[in-house]
Amino acid sequence: MIDTHCHLDFPVFDGDREAVWARARDVGVRGLVIPGVRLDSFGRILALRGEGCRIAFGLHPVFWGEHPEDALAQLEGWVRWHAPVAVGEIGLDYMVSSESFEVQARLFEGQLRLAKAFHLPVLLHVRRAHEPVLALLRQVKFPCGGIVHAFSGSLEQARAYIRLGFCVGIGGVVTRGQATRVRQVAARVDAASLVLESDAPDLPPLGRIGERNEPACLGEVVATLAALRGVEVADLILATTRNARRVLNWQE
Ligand SMILES: [Zn+2]
Repeated sequence: MIDTHCHLDFPVFDGDREAVWARARDVGVRGLVIPGVRLDSFGRILALRGEGCRIAFGLHPVFWGEHPEDALAQLEGWVRWHAPVAVGEIGLDYMVSSESFEVQARLFEGQLRLAKAFHLPVLLHVRRAHEPVLALLRQVKFPCGGIVHAFSGSLEQARAYIRLGFCVGIGGVVTRGQATRVRQVAARVDAASLVLESDAPDLPPLGRIGERNEPACLGEVVATLAALRGVEVADLILATTRNARRVLNWQE
């Protein structure tokens, strides 16, 4: 399995990062992607790149007020010199104050254009903003696809992303019975467009809500997903791994 979204660089893992990786390997996680959220985290992320551990750099919309003036120029330097697998995580978050929307949109569009120039896919963070994100992807004619992480939209919106070359990221939320819409989308979206993610340390599966999440939760995620879709776990592992490798141009 590949965990396509894992914040293994966060300080909350400083005490036992190796053990976290080891537990993930025990359940069959063979690769993971660490997305960047702000410039001051990129050095830490770069230091974690290694066997099975790929990295991305991006300016997260939630930190819209904290990115420096020249953040885009600095990001370009990181992308140019350190060859990440993607630009991310980037996007629009309409659950934070609406005074930020203009800044968020400018940051997002700038990063889409940067990813396009470097022929890189993007890792999208989208909350209550799927329509403006889809509109911007079309406006920029973004050709490299990517992953909509922790997808929370409708099946129609999932299909709109897929038509633009995106995969849909499914994580611990799918194990929660009350997450009806996420479960419906997870059950019905095309198998060629599903990828797994932990979003650790956030969004743990049912039974561990409020605790630190880990990439080892992918075992529960894939089991739930297989049951929802009525398919074999092994087949789903093969498909989601293949999808992640394809969308991230991840060669062994
Ligand atoms: Zn994230």
